[in-house]
Amino acid sequence: MTTVEGALEAEHEALLSFMYMSPIGIVRSGLNGDVDMLNPVAVQLLMPLAGRMGVGNVFESLTNVAPELRNLVSSFPAERGRVCEGHRIVIAPSADRPMVLSCNIIKVNSSTLMMTLSDISRQVEAERRARQHESWLAGIYTSVNDFAFFTLDAAGRIDSWNASVEQLTGFGAEEVLGHTLDLFYAPEAVDPYCSPEHISLTREEGWHIQERWCESKQGRRYAAQIMVAVLREDDADIAGYSVVIRDVSERKISSDELTRLLTTDHLTGAVNRAHFFKLAEKELARTRRLGKELSVVMIDADHFKRINDTAGHQAGDLVLTQIVQKAKAHLRSIDLLARLGGEEFCLLLPGTARGEAFVIAERVRATIADTEIATGAGPIRVTVSAGIASVTDATSCVNDLLAAADKALYAAKAAGRNRVELG
Ligand code: GH3
Ligand code: MG
Ligand code: MG
Repeated sequence: MTTVEGALEAEHEALLSFMYMSPIGIVRSGLNGDVDMLNPVAVQLLMPLAGRMGVGNVFESLTNVAPELRNLVSSFPAERGRVCEGHRIVIAPSADRPMVLSCNIIKVNSSTLMMTLSDISRQVEAERRARQHESWLAGIYTSVNDFAFFTLDAAGRIDSWNASVEQLTGFGAEEVLGHTLDLFYAPEAVDPYCSPEHISLTREEGWHIQERWCESKQGRRYAAQIMVAVLREDDADIAGYSVVIRDVSERKISSDELTRLLTTDHLTGAVNRAHFFKLAEKELARTRRLGKELSVVMIDADHFKRINDTAGHQAGDLVLTQIVQKAKAHLRSIDLLARLGGEEFCLLLPGTARGEAFVIAERVRATIADTEIATGAGPIRVTVSAGIASVTDATSCVNDLLAAADKALYAAKAAGRNRVELG
């Protein structure tokens, strides 16, 4: 044997052992499919398909599952080349999880075919599952309208979009991608420091929930519960976040209603006694902190017992409601009107000194005195007396302030009623 022949022999040996060990099936055959060489994996794949026919001819072995192979080869015009690539052969298609072979055929020359066969059942199954998940998600995205799901990149910018986002927020993909979450917030709820805070809280805890007012592109306001969770980590670095925004308007409205019931007087709609003390203590602390003014006006209906006695309790109730309505007309949004009990009310006037408080109390008194209230028992007139107290260095709590205002109120009653007195 020459050296060249020896080298060729060695190369051939190496090729054979490569084929033998290959994890995919390799078959060499003539153009008519007569096999002249096949490796163990090919035997393993073909044997169960060939049955009694044996694996002597690869087209016959596969005739039940891939009768088209013979035609593919016979209609291939060139002397050499790729007859087919990744041709899928499905075995037992009625089974839940069919076995799928991927087949490549190369025409090596005018009389030889090389065929590879590999079992790609797992890959096909994974693809099937991915498609199924995709269609489930698409179904969810398009059928929910009170949820939106999407993702943010590591910097907190929106990097994915789907139908659920548009359904809830009204924004299309191109309007959303690259923006931060504030895009969805109602204008007054946008806080320049909030977005990073939201993300940094999520970063610390892994997830974070908050509720805030949002507004759709079309201007529909909705109460949203926003949940952000760390989506994935690469080497402890956060690569992104998933976000679920939920429209909780209905629940929010019912909880707002509950808050209203707990904080207001049912008859007049004024702030109730318990809530008044809570807000007033807060306001007193704030006034101290900022070195500002704060005044209270105690108001009591004059001879109210008489109204009840002559016109009836129901008319009395209506008069109380009217007193609140008339007083409210003179108040700013930051002022507070509370019903402390019976026919006794209190105004809390932040940032207001005693002189200004007197002017406001006097206007309230005059308006009520000038109003004729139509009741079931005929028209009624009512007057009120008021006493004013303002925060001084000696004021240590809200009760101090109310006691001083009460004293002034008593003086107003003693001086003939339908009057305002300064404490
Ligand atoms: P004064 O000018 O000294 O304040 O006399 P007054 O009659 O207003 O004072 P008094 O405290 O003696 O009477 C208050 C009355 O208010 C007694 C009570 O029946 C009545 N009252 C308390 N709460 C309500 C209510 O919710 N509805 C009605 N209609 N009356 C109430
Ligand atoms: Mg009274
Ligand atoms: Mg009273």
